[in-house]
Amino acid sequence: MHLPGPFDIIRVVELEGAFRVPDFLFPDATEEVIKASKVGSDPRFYNAETNMLFMSFHTLVIRTQRHTILVDTCIGNDKERPELLDWHHRSGPFLADLAAAGVPAESIDFVLCTHLHADHVGWNTKLLDGRWVPTFPNAKYLMARTEVEHWSHVALSSAAAANHRSWDDSVQPILDAGQALIVDSDYEIEPGIHLIPAPGHTPGNVILHVSDGKERAYLIGDTIHHPLQIEHPDWSSSFCFDPEQSRATRKAFLDGVAETPSLVIPAHFAAPTAVRITGDAHGYDFETVEKDQRLALK
Ligand SMILES: [Zn+2]
Repeated sequence: MHLPGPFDIIRVVELEGAFRVPDFLFPDATEEVIKASKVGSDPRFYNAETNMLFMSFHTLVIRTQRHTILVDTCIGNDKERPELLDWHHRSGPFLADLAAAGVPAESIDFVLCTHLHADHVGWNTKLLDGRWVPTFPNAKYLMARTEVEHWSHVALSSAAAANHRSWDDSVQPILDAGQALIVDSDYEIEPGIHLIPAPGHTPGNVILHVSDGKERAYLIGDTIHHPLQIEHPDWSSSFCFDPEQSRATRKAFLDGVAETPSLVIPAHFAAPTAVRITGDAHGYDFETVEKDQRLALK
């Protein structure tokens, strides 16, 4: 059996900092509970003086011997997002940073949006001569069928503003360009690299499973937003479509990876971002992973 060889996982940051109060993200969070938690005294993830969560918006690139796969496209430049000032009319160096990391836009074979929230589809497109065009000209953009069906309905409804109208500027142009590959939620990109359904945060939310046959990594998008949810897996976010389902998915995922060497790489954990999960259903914990030579985490 042919198994894919070693591969790189590269993180490219668009935005990172302490800029959300916890109850903006987690309705169940209180300052007291956070300060009593392990994460509450870890300045990499929480600023106790200002009561702000440290978060990151980054892309992850998997480079295998066959493909270059970019996972989640962050916020994007020039997008109309007046509800959130740090997302509105951005003009950041994301594409230059991506190229400097050895990943020019032309080299991407697949873009995977774990889900279609505005902070995961932004760089799907860029503004060129007043039109939104695909940022990655040679890529197929993978989107789970359930997710596309859900958000296409939302985009037609009055609730469209709930997702910052990102369908119009970041998803529809990909469909129009013929670059979308609408797939089942367990789609395999190549042996060892496939999607896993993880509904709840959104109806068609997926996790990317990456394995070279021995080691495993899971790129989990927003299945866990912040390290606080490892200690408090009951906490679904304000942005979860189905908080109950999100909670069940998160707990089942934690249960499956706890006390294994699997790397867990979420979409919004601040550096160093990758973790290994320890503990069990009575109490999960984690250790951060700076570098992993077997998976060439950079
Ligand atoms: Zn997100």
